[in-house]
Amino acid sequence: MTPNLATFVSMSAFVALVGMGVVFTALARGPRWANARIYTVIAFSAAAYSAVDVCFTLPELNGELVRSIGVLNYLTACIHACAWVVHAFSTPEHPWRDLSPRLRVVVIITMTLGVVALVPHVMNTDGVHEVRVAWAGVVYHQPETTIFADLMSVWVLGVLALPLVAFVRAYRRGERGRGVWVVSFTIFLACGISEALTTNGVYDFLFLGDVGLLAMVLSVLVDSVRQVRRDAQALEAFGQDLAAQVERRTLERDEARTALQHAERLAALGRLAAGVGHEINNPLSYVRSNLRLLHEALAHGKLPDDAGELLEESIEGTERIRRVVSDLRSYALPVDEQRRVLDLREVLSSALKVAAHQLRHIAPVTQEHGPDVPGVVADPLRLGQVFVNLLVNAGHAVREANRDPRRIVVRTRRAADGRAVIEVQDSGVGMPPELLARLGEPYFSTRIDRGGTGLGLFVSRGIVASFGGTLDFESTVGVGTVARVTLPGAPAGAAVATAAPVTAPTPEPAPPPTKPLLAGPAAGRRPRALIVDDEPAVARAFSRMLSDFEVTILHDAQAAARMLTERPSHFDLVLCDVMMPGMTGAQLHAQLEREAPALLPRFVFVTGGTMLPEVSSFLGRAGIHHLTKPFDREALVAASRAALERSAAAQQP
Ligand code: ADP
Ligand code: MG
Repeated sequence: MTPNLATFVSMSAFVALVGMGVVFTALARGPRWANARIYTVIAFSAAAYSAVDVCFTLPELNGELVRSIGVLNYLTACIHACAWVVHAFSTPEHPWRDLSPRLRVVVIITMTLGVVALVPHVMNTDGVHEVRVAWAGVVYHQPETTIFADLMSVWVLGVLALPLVAFVRAYRRGERGRGVWVVSFTIFLACGISEALTTNGVYDFLFLGDVGLLAMVLSVLVDSVRQVRRDAQALEAFGQDLAAQVERRTLERDEARTALQHAERLAALGRLAAGVGHEINNPLSYVRSNLRLLHEALAHGKLPDDAGELLEESIEGTERIRRVVSDLRSYALPVDEQRRVLDLREVLSSALKVAAHQLRHIAPVTQEHGPDVPGVVADPLRLGQVFVNLLVNAGHAVREANRDPRRIVVRTRRAADGRAVIEVQDSGVGMPPELLARLGEPYFSTRIDRGGTGLGLFVSRGIVASFGGTLDFESTVGVGTVARVTLPGAPAGAAVATAAPVTAPTPEPAPPPTKPLLAGPAAGRRPRALIVDDEPAVARAFSRMLSDFEVTILHDAQAAARMLTERPSHFDLVLCDVMMPGMTGAQLHAQLEREAPALLPRFVFVTGGTMLPEVSSFLGRAGIHHLTKPFDREALVAASRAALERSAAAQQP
């Protein structure tokens, strides 16, 4: 084989066309790229045409071979022309259906001609015709064509003129990207005319048909690149739009959620406030009327016969109010919570000790502990409070049922998913479904008349949830109830801390004083107390409780600061409110820390229990002693005694 310049030109066109065909095949698989299917036909038919042209440039090929390969060119030319028609006049989705009937006829005729061309001797005579291009050292061998072949060439060129006309029109209408088609078709036609002239010996030049085809297919490539760019831009815009939408929707959702939470919180707050009001108003109404009665009676100089009863009832009423507030506090503010890994048995046994005096005469409590019960991460006091609530409820239920068997079983086990399960089962009255559904609603109680507050389960549920657990109930009327706490198991290997004992709801009364209150140099005189509280009635009540002391009352902390710094050793005890307008107890403490630190051991702070975080962190500091209102005389006496002892110890050399 002796390749020459013409071989090189046709070969290059062939390779480029095949490459483009491959690209279009790949593109045709993409979404919205159906038009690449027709591009594929255009590129591969052009490539086939060039392949045959390569053969024409090789002088070694004999006449028979050239003739038989040559007829293939008519077929590929027909396919190529039809593909352009389809591309220009139809849609990628329905290439045949959307073609007009006339153009369908054109396509059918063209394809029929292409097939007829394959019949021997229709296109070629026996001769082979040489075209020499001397300056390029090229000799083309072409079969001698029949008149039919010449007519057919004219027909195919005519068919190709149809898309050209369409493109020119579109270009003139200003449709984007049509200019490229027009230019490439013009180049193609120029190349075709040049080839016809050289074949007929008008002038010496290389056959340029392949170059023309290449130009046309290149225009398709340019168009595709544009489409890729458009798609990328659309995708980018779509992505940005989507991101903006997601952001907007997320914002809307968050706002809606916040609004809902806010509304829910307000509603819950409203319920809670109404409940608190109700709970406090009941006892308050009889405490007030009892006190009024006593007050009027005293004004008339005669106490009624049931004065003792009236007072007892009033004290009981205030105790009820105290309980409501303390239950609320334990729900609302887990301020001084101390979470650690706990052994459930220990928490349960402390809870049982606390509940023991309420359960003793009602039912025996048995314990059943399963193997490998995991530890749980929780605050021992708060978790203990949950168990006390459940045990006390169980006790009430058994007592109300008032029948055998009387049983309370406390069970622990490990759930299949590794969580810890604690059950308190009773053989009590049980609950119907409508009651079960209301459990945990604040102030829902069936025992209001017997001292129930309806806060026990509400509080317990909140506590359990704060440790990531759940509280559920199973109950059958007349059979009993199972209260089930499920808590996440602590990771294996976590060190188990010893549970601190759960504090009993009511403090044990302090033992009566046995020692003289003052020791050392101050012995022999009445101890002196300073009470600092902005509420005069409260201050007076404290002063009455401190009957052993010589009491001075001040209503603001600034005055107290002045008096204490002027006479640092005068008072043996300072009973100081924490929250006061102007200077708070904490600020007074801070000032004395700088100016008279020796006074500090004599301080006992008093709080109303509204545990703002800063207050609770102040009270949690080492060396700060405090009492929570309301408290009774015994607690105050014990606290003052401890303060006097601290102060005495501090004065020891
Ligand atoms: P309280 O005990 O102050 O009434 P709780 O929140 O502890 O408030 O309980 C609410 C109500 O749930 C109780 O009044 C009672 O009707 C019902 N209840 C709770 N535990 C049990 C139980 N183990 N068996 C039957 N009823 C129960
Ligand atoms: Mg209860």
